[in-house]
This record gives sequence, structure tokens and C-alpha cells, in this order.
Amino acid sequence: MNRLLCFVLALASLSLSRADVRVVTSLPDLADFAQRIGGDKVKVDFIVKGNQNPHFVDVKPSYMMKLKSADIFFIIGMEFELWAPQLVDGSRNANLNVVDLSRAIQKMEVPAAVNAGMGDVHRYGNPHYWLDPRNIRIVAGEMVDALTKASPVDEAFFRGNAEAYLKKLDAKIVEWQAQMKPFAGSRIITFHKSWSYFANWLGLVIAGQVEPLPGIAPTPGHTSELIQLCRQGNIKAIIVEPFYDMSAPEQIARSTSAKVLQLPTSVGGVDGAEDYIALMDHNISTMAATLR
Ligand SMILES: [Zn+2]
Repeated sequence: MNRLLCFVLALASLSLSRADVRVVTSLPDLADFAQRIGGDKVKVDFIVKGNQNPHFVDVKPSYMMKLKSADIFFIIGMEFELWAPQLVDGSRNANLNVVDLSRAIQKMEVPAAVNAGMGDVHRYGNPHYWLDPRNIRIVAGEMVDALTKASPVDEAFFRGNAEAYLKKLDAKIVEWQAQMKPFAGSRIITFHKSWSYFANWLGLVIAGQVEPLPGIAPTPGHTSELIQLCRQGNIKAIIVEPFYDMSAPEQIARSTSAKVLQLPTSVGGVDGAEDYIALMDHNISTMAATLR
């Protein structure tokens, strides 16, 4: 075989092997996992930026276009993406596989019955489970299954990539737990109930939320109750995502010894949090420095 023919065949096989599975995810965190598991066999895009409030997303035609040409749409589930059904309908993509990653997650704060008392956005329990990194093994398992369904010949490749990533993540989990061990039992307040799984993992105590109910803006009455709570309860930090209004948390901090801590909940939420491990590194080291 001459050299030119070899080259042409190599190019052809390269293009054949690049039958990309087209993946869209709701969050950039999920895009990070999908990219690591899918490697060069996938093309990954996501909807919500890390510095946006993921609960409230404008339904845009450009998001529908992303889903129009996708094979898989990975979502957090538990109605976290209240805006997703409209995007899926608008995409008119009958072959889109919408994969709810929450199916096997051990869910927190699930109400006995769906009721208005849960607020606007956590009616089926708390959906912020990706902030406990132990849940990523479940997420990765669901992703491997869905990618394999889309491209069965690549199953071993997807499994191998997932295992390699989870091994790396497991080592980080041990490291993060050691960093936070001295602060187990520390009492904190959070703006939104985004940190329940994170706190449960690390033994932090969440004494209250700045939002009276998930998705409901702070009220003067509720803020004064929190000021009382901070004065009585040795609250060290008020954790706020960068996209929330800072006035109520700052008002609480001014009247008490609690410090306001802006922490992102998703990849891209601050500079340097360019992937999930970097996001968690940032949050854990910032929190450890504040609780000290
Ligand atoms: Zn929420």
C-alpha cells in the first residue's frame, strides 16, 4: 500500500470513528462529567452558565436549537429545570433522550406530599445533590448507560473513562474531608437551600436560610429573625451564590459576627472554577479559611 493510500484510509477511519454522540446538559458541571466520560466520542454543550441562577432561566430559541440537534439531554431532575420541558418541546426533536440523573440519588428534604410550603422550586425535594461529590458516581453511572445506548461500540471506552475520573474524584473526596474535618458541627446560614447535601456530607449544620422559602426573596421580618438567630447561635458564615442580591446577607453580617461568603454552586461560577474538581477545591478552601 502506498503512503498516500495509507493516509487517506487513516483519515477515513478517523472520520468514521468520530460519529460523535451529541450531548446537551442543563448545568456546566454535568457537561464536565459528560466530556470526561465521552472523551472524543462526544460533542458536549450546556444551557445554564455557572454564574446564572439555574432555577430561573429564560426560555430562548437558541437553547431550543442546541437541543434540536442533540442525542441526549442530561438534567438534574426533581423539577430543578422547571424550564426544561418548554425547551424540549420547542426543539421538536422526537429522538432526544432526556435523562433524569436524579433517579438513583438518595434525595433530601422530600416532602410527604407536594405542597406550597416547600416554596416555588423544591417541591419534589432538594435537587442540589451534585454538591455532595459522592453522588457523582451515580451521575456518572447514568451517563455511561445513556452514552452506551447511543453508541454501543464505545461502552468499554465510556466505562474506562468514568472509572478513571471517579478514581481521581475519590482521592479528592478524601482530601476535602480531611480539610473540613476540624469544622464538623460548625453552624452556617445559606441564602438558598443549595448546600444541604454538601453540609450533610461534611457535618456542617445549616441553621437557616436567607430566603424564607426556596425561590422566595428575603423579607424584612425573616431577615430580623435571622439576625436574632446569629446573635444567639454562633453562626460563622452566611453562604451566598454570586448571582443573589447581597443586601439581606450584608444586613445580617453588619449586625452580627457572621461573615458573608460568596461561593459558586456550579462550574464557571467564579474565575478558576473551570471544572468540577476546581469548583470544589475553591469552595472547600474558601470555607475552611472562613470557619477557622
Ligand atoms: Zn434550589
